[in-house]
Amino acid sequence: VQKNPSEPEFHQAVHEVLDTLRPVIEENEAHYRRDAILERLVEPDRLIQFRVAWVDDAGQVQVNTGYRVQFNNAIGPYKGGLRLRENVYSGIVKFLGFEQIFKNALTGLPIGGAKGGSDFDPKGKSDREIMAFCKAFMSELYKYIGPDIDVPAGDIGVGGREIGYLYGQYKRLTHRHEGVLTGKSLSFGGSLARTEATGYGLLYFADAMLRANGLSFKNQRVVISGSGNVAIYAAEKAGQLGATVVALSDSSGYIYDEAGIDLAAVKEIKEKRYGRIVEYLDIHPQAQYSADDGIWSVPCDVALPCATQNELNLEDAKKLVANGCKAVAEGANMPTSREATEYLQEQKVLFAPGKAANAGGVAVSALEMSQNSERQVWTFDKVDDKLKTIMEDIFAKSDEAAKRFGFAGNYVVGANIAGFERVIAAMQSQGV
Ligand code: NDP
Repeated sequence: VQKNPSEPEFHQAVHEVLDTLRPVIEENEAHYRRDAILERLVEPDRLIQFRVAWVDDAGQVQVNTGYRVQFNNAIGPYKGGLRLRENVYSGIVKFLGFEQIFKNALTGLPIGGAKGGSDFDPKGKSDREIMAFCKAFMSELYKYIGPDIDVPAGDIGVGGREIGYLYGQYKRLTHRHEGVLTGKSLSFGGSLARTEATGYGLLYFADAMLRANGLSFKNQRVVISGSGNVAIYAAEKAGQLGATVVALSDSSGYIYDEAGIDLAAVKEIKEKRYGRIVEYLDIHPQAQYSADDGIWSVPCDVALPCATQNELNLEDAKKLVANGCKAVAEGANMPTSREATEYLQEQKVLFAPGKAANAGGVAVSALEMSQNSERQVWTFDKVDDKLKTIMEDIFAKSDEAAKRFGFAGNYVVGANIAGFERVIAAMQSQGV
């Protein structure tokens, strides 16, 4: 706790991982100590911080702080998203970068862990302001990234539009058209199924978990927080698997539609108008809207937190259990607080940790890198098939590792151990 005292999210992520790794650590204690394996694991390779100055529509110069943490490249080039949100600071990018190391390892693909972003808030900004910010951000970031060095992608506040502006600026500055960012538009090197990948992948993982426990999504009521990229495509796949999604949210409130959420309406509001979830009522006046964060009080069989960190706390977990929820699968990064996770596990609610369950996005990003390297474009079905195989494989690895150490059914422990083993093996092979 003496190190990085002002970064609580980073501490939370590190504690959560290291505590679950106890069985492996105890088995290898002497040589982990000698090689300072854990000390090296929690210290990023580097944290880059920079000024981002841009001009707003009123002609005023605005200044934000940009970050990129290149955490660990033992198994491949750094890879991880960029987040634009007013609360972004070193503690957030480090927690996300640390988690990303294990997530990327779990995919089985050659990608290391990184994350970045800025305290710029895109909400309410004009398209021109977004472009101005992205150009200024990339004007510094381009020095540190490259297709074999570090390949950023999207995260909260960074979707196809922002990736396009960032890529355009990288190309202008470097005179190179290469796979330096993923989540690109299909017209200049993007991968089919990348938009859907995190949400679909979450459902592939959750479905594998349910099936392994004698359950399925058929006729289940599902509640999903958020209404961004992950939430929308989680909802789409949940519907395809026979479930009914009854609630979605954003940071202002949540909608509840007993008949099942009309996803076409949500896509229109969120992907085309960049609007608010309350606008759903304009299209479906019979639905209900609550201007609060009480989405977890809506009764459901499966809960999918897909908005942001620490959005599902102990009180929320108690409500879910009281209403008969059977499974929680994290689409967002660290959305469930530690107390809530432990409570759900004690109550025998199946729990899929984000590190494993939301790895589909970065997995397809790695497939986008492959397509860019070979100058090929794969079909939607080819990418989606690979995604499904990868997610089922991540479930199998997490399940196996948990069983091997006597924690059958604890996928938090299983995912952390499986990811850790791969990274540590690579770090040890490469020496100090
Ligand atoms: P988006 O920006 O597309 O959507 C985020 C959604 O969450 C929005 O609906 C947003 O509402 C809502 N939200 C954000 N903060 C809060 C809050 N404090 N309370 C309630 N709702 C909130 O982001 P993504 O869908 O891409 O990302 C969502 C999560 O998934 C993040 O944790 C991200 O790290 C994680 N993730 C994303 C991946 C991807 O491929 N996109 C891959 C793996 C993980 P509002 O519009 O009001 O801000």
